[in-house]
Amino acid sequence: MNRSLSEHLYEEALKHIVGGVNSPSRSFKAVGGGAPVFMKKAEGAYFWDVDGNRYVDYLAAYGPIITGHAHPHVTRAIQEAAANGTLYGTPTELEIRLAKMLKEAIPSMDKVRFVNSGTEAVMTTIRVARAYTKRNKIIKFAGCYHGHSDLVLVAAGSGPSTLGIPDSAGIPTSIAHEVITVPFNDAAALKDALDRWGDDIAAVMVEPIVGNFGMVMPKPGFLEDLCRLARQYGALVIYDEVITAFRFHYGSAQTYAGLANHEAIRPDLTALGKIIGGGLPIGAYGGSKKIMEQVAPLGPAYQAGTMAGNPASISAGIACLEVLQGAGIYEEMDRLAAKLTDGLAGSARRHGVPLTINRIRGSFSTHFCDHPVTNYDEAQDTDSAAFAAFFRAMLNRGVNLAPSKFEAWFLTTAHTDSDIDFTLEAADAAFKEIAG
Ligand code: PLP
Repeated sequence: MNRSLSEHLYEEALKHIVGGVNSPSRSFKAVGGGAPVFMKKAEGAYFWDVDGNRYVDYLAAYGPIITGHAHPHVTRAIQEAAANGTLYGTPTELEIRLAKMLKEAIPSMDKVRFVNSGTEAVMTTIRVARAYTKRNKIIKFAGCYHGHSDLVLVAAGSGPSTLGIPDSAGIPTSIAHEVITVPFNDAAALKDALDRWGDDIAAVMVEPIVGNFGMVMPKPGFLEDLCRLARQYGALVIYDEVITAFRFHYGSAQTYAGLANHEAIRPDLTALGKIIGGGLPIGAYGGSKKIMEQVAPLGPAYQAGTMAGNPASISAGIACLEVLQGAGIYEEMDRLAAKLTDGLAGSARRHGVPLTINRIRGSFSTHFCDHPVTNYDEAQDTDSAAFAAFFRAMLNRGVNLAPSKFEAWFLTTAHTDSDIDFTLEAADAAFKEIAG
């Protein structure tokens, strides 16, 4: 496959943009380096690069593009919003509509505030938890990525761990000391941390279903234990649902049927992003009225944003959720993902390539190993070279995956049986190639 124009553009980009990319996870550093593919157009389940090659896309822009690229309903909503003015700096009725949609789908949120990214949403939930509890520390889980704000960039998953930057430079140790990291799915380790620092823990922060070291389900009872222990020690529970909200069903992980007791796993605060913006920049956070009243202008916790709640992002979000309300939408993504993962598993087996697949409805992760992956250590203990070779073999056959062994594959409403068949054919050749 000729990608000479991409290579040329990468050289140009390196001259002007640090690392040639505007987010480190877009570089190919974790898959052997070289030029990332410069895409020119995206529609439905497909990308076309600047050299004219077509790819079936499973990156979905790291999650937001669940309705496929340039979905007509979402595109129309953005066009109409743009024609009416892109930014007002005043409240709009649209914001109320999206806030109501989120509240109806995620009942733990009485009050919502829109921001511009998942990073901002998470960062603010921590501030609110600290304001509410008058405590400083948080507990997070190894490998969970919560954006790039100082406090959570410690033992963070996909991007940083891929790049081997467990703690970013530029974060004062005084801040890193306010974060305690424990292994995911390990309630005993959480209890030990709470026993030791409980009086100063403002919040326990978790991706209730992990999306950042592959897709990993909480073990039965883990979230129940987490919520019970946090409350026992007077800490709030924050769910980072930036990836998981509206991912598996029309709702969030906290209301997902695959998790047993929704009342017992109800968080105090939730951070959202990605899908709720329909492909435009957005974040949101919310929680009970009492806790959210900490936020300015009602309370002492300050948070603001020039771009927050802009009509284009909000309109795209509403349109995206409207598409997701359609009958059978999630069932179809589930069916196609099951067909794809069954095929991948069979093909890997035939070629003698060890592969563990973690699938939750329309999203899944492929781990090149022969053991289960239930926490970050297990996700790290997988064959990076095999993943890199697989990634490149797929790319060369027109299938676009995230360039990191920690990232998920995302099905969208645009994928079809023929895309899955095409992908499985490519994968069979890719497994054959890497099996040597
Ligand atoms: N939280 C989770 C779980 C994420 O996966 C991400 C991004 O991938 C973020 C927060 C940060 O969101 P954003 O990139 O919109 O700042």
